[in-house]
Amino acid sequence: MGKIILTGDRPTGRLHVGHYVGSLRRRVELQNSGEYEKIFIMIADAQALTDNFENPEKVRQNIIEVALDYLSVGLDPAKSNLFIQSQIPELTELTFYYMNLVTLSRLERNPTVKTEIKLRNFETSIPVGFLCYPISQAADITAFKATTVPVGEDQLPMLEQTKEIVRKFNSIYDEVLVEPEVLLPDNAACLRLPGTDGKAKMSKSLGNCIYLADDPGEVQKKIMSMYTDPLHLRIEDPGHLEGNAVFTYLDAFCKPEHFERYLPEYAGLDELKAHYQRGGLGDVKIKKFLNKIIQEELEPIRARRKEYEKDIAAVYDILKAGTEAARETATQTMDEVKKAMKIDYFNDKSLLEGQEQKYHG
Ligand code: ATP
Ligand code: MG
Repeated sequence: MGKIILTGDRPTGRLHVGHYVGSLRRRVELQNSGEYEKIFIMIADAQALTDNFENPEKVRQNIIEVALDYLSVGLDPAKSNLFIQSQIPELTELTFYYMNLVTLSRLERNPTVKTEIKLRNFETSIPVGFLCYPISQAADITAFKATTVPVGEDQLPMLEQTKEIVRKFNSIYDEVLVEPEVLLPDNAACLRLPGTDGKAKMSKSLGNCIYLADDPGEVQKKIMSMYTDPLHLRIEDPGHLEGNAVFTYLDAFCKPEHFERYLPEYAGLDELKAHYQRGGLGDVKIKKFLNKIIQEELEPIRARRKEYEKDIAAVYDILKAGTEAARETATQTMDEVKKAMKIDYFNDKSLLEGQEQKYHG
């Protein structure tokens, strides 16, 4: 069997440049590499509801926003299957059976979930559905027999959980499920892009994002007010790179040709960094450089979005067709799972025969 990709995003807001460098950019490359037999890209609305259950309107509105972001970065519905999680009941069904294979203490140990619980101030009133979302992610991945899951670093614990479920299922029932491998960005700065406020992660929930759909003015405003080095007060002060979000963004976005084009007095990023550390290089100059680079990267994305925005009905149709096709695959896996778990009663001739034997000899 060929290689299969499954990945997705929560429709809790529009997608941002953290998504772009952490996952979206790679997805488009993988899509266009021709190395994958199937590519499934999921809008994870059921998962979004686990911590937004009181706000279904937000999730509903963001389905189309995320779909537009997908199309605008270059995901191509002819090559990638774009679908909506909640419209595939088999995913919920699988989640229910996988719950038997996971302990509560295992879920409570998940470091990403722990951080997210703190962030959302759930304290002791954690919704059961939220705690279980790593199980539902295992269902999403295995339903499509995904071999490859391109995601950001925060998803590593989810992939570990999925592998454990796969091994347990296959050893107890039958070798039906496929153990996926994670594909992280190879550039360290892209693993977890910090927020414009310097916080560890750019995240819709933290409001520290540069969105793919932001207009040029908004992007510039956000970059010019970005967090840098609080000790770098005057231009001549030596600057620090650690925790300096502007330099992390340069690590994530900057290519040698950007220097040729916008900052030819430096040979490259190493030289710029060295100057900053020595002192004598102001934040404004670096931010202006970063702004040019990000604007250049976002320009074609904005242009493609404008095109798709003209025909929202067509975007709907793409999601509908993608969801129908994805459901077919999930249904096939569900049939195999039920057979392995011996709960396929109406297709299980040997059950009927055995019972007849028992009662009628
Ligand atoms: P939420 O705050 O609702 O959880 P989010 O911004 O964390 O939203 P998700 O939809 O949870 O976004 O994440 C989708 C994908 O994008 C995942 O693969 C995740 O690893 C990746 N990702 C999200 N934020 C970043 C980031 N700042 N840097 C790199 N990758 C990221
Ligand atoms: Mg998240």
